[in-house]
Amino acid sequence: MDNKFLLEEIEKEISSVYLPLRATSTNLVFGKGNPNAKIVFVGEAAGKNEDLQGLPFVGAAGKNLDKLLESVGLSLDDVYIANILKYRPPENRDPLPYEIEAHTPYLIKQIEVIKPKIVCSLGNYATKFFLALGNVGDMNNQPNITQVHGSVKNIEINDLKIKLIPLFHPAAIIYNRTKLTPLWEKDMEIVKEEIGK
Ligand code: URA
Repeated sequence: MDNKFLLEEIEKEISSVYLPLRATSTNLVFGKGNPNAKIVFVGEAAGKNEDLQGLPFVGAAGKNLDKLLESVGLSLDDVYIANILKYRPPENRDPLPYEIEAHTPYLIKQIEVIKPKIVCSLGNYATKFFLALGNVGDMNNQPNITQVHGSVKNIEINDLKIKLIPLFHPAAIIYNRTKLTPLWEKDMEIVKEEIGK
């Protein structure tokens, strides 16, 4: 069975359960990109535009991610993109621990299907989730993205082995382009090196 089909099955499964945040959102925001990608990017949660279109990273942060990918010679064909949360929190408030706990098993399933060489967590939320090995209660004890961006870490969550490389969130880069864009590009060189191994 191909990955596209298997991902569609996970999407159907989510649609058939009543996840927290479903009631207050417009659409499920499952993922986009290449189901056979070697790199999976994981963001935090949908914003307004993503909620309306049912796709991750289509608003301002998404436009910046497209540009950042282009600057290192990549496109959506080379990556798969998903979020920690599958539905938008009202008014983009921070996700609550029980919401992360309820949504992330589906993210893990997505990664299990795609089997990427690298998972890049975008920003603090996704990074802390992976560094805490999926233990939501332990996320607050994890280092900040400024301390760990561009570092390679082998982790294991529920038997799933992941090579994690945290990156700055594209939305944060918008507010600090001059400083963060070169850092992002440098970190992506590390990602590409790991892909080539
Ligand atoms: N920010 C995220 O983390 N994810 C999206 O899908 C959009 C913005």
